Amino acid sequence: MSSASFPYRILVVEDDPALREVARHMLESKGYEVLGAEDGFQGLAALKRSLPDVIISDLRMPNMNGFEFLSVVRRRFPSIPVIVISGEFTGLTVPESVLADAFFPKGQYKPQDLFAKIEDFLCELPTRPKVGKPQKAAVWVKNSNEAVVVTCTDCLRTFPVTSPPKGVNEVECDFCSCTIRFEIVGALLSPLDTSRIS
Ligand SMILES: [Zn+2]
Repeated sequence: MSSASFPYRILVVEDDPALREVARHMLESKGYEVLGAEDGFQGLAALKRSLPDVIISDLRMPNMNGFEFLSVVRRRFPSIPVIVISGEFTGLTVPESVLADAFFPKGQYKPQDLFAKIEDFLCELPTRPKVGKPQKAAVWVKNSNEAVVVTCTDCLRTFPVTSPPKGVNEVECDFCSCTIRFEIVGALLSPLDTSRIS
């Protein structure tokens, strides 16, 4: 699974510290190096420091939720396999609205199934198609009428955009001047309205 000198690295993005630690222990016991992040912003900060081989992410998190985080990851790092573990959906197939390669329902999967999936992805890594950036705009969920904080899908830096309208917006990154396309979708409701996130 991992060579003695270079363990595979897995980034776990999960806001519940207890669950994050459980995941860390579980994965470390299998010889993986584990990076933890408590929301999407921390996840992006971790990606700026070092790239993991696999990302495991929750969806419902404060600050930057998993939909936003994964839409940035898919555009910026399309070759990193992503596993979503979430209570938002049931079943074992990847919900269409989730930008992930595999999905496990929170608390309802066997750890050995997760390990097997990680192994699959690690075996495929060298042959994983070098997909180009998807054309879809990164998704941002608007929780209020105030400014949203968007993340540049190129340099990963964040900045506020005041009252962007729903739908696809284009802004120039304050830092690297590249054009960022992002889509504003409705507020996070309960149950999560993902009908427009695809
Ligand atoms: Zn930028």
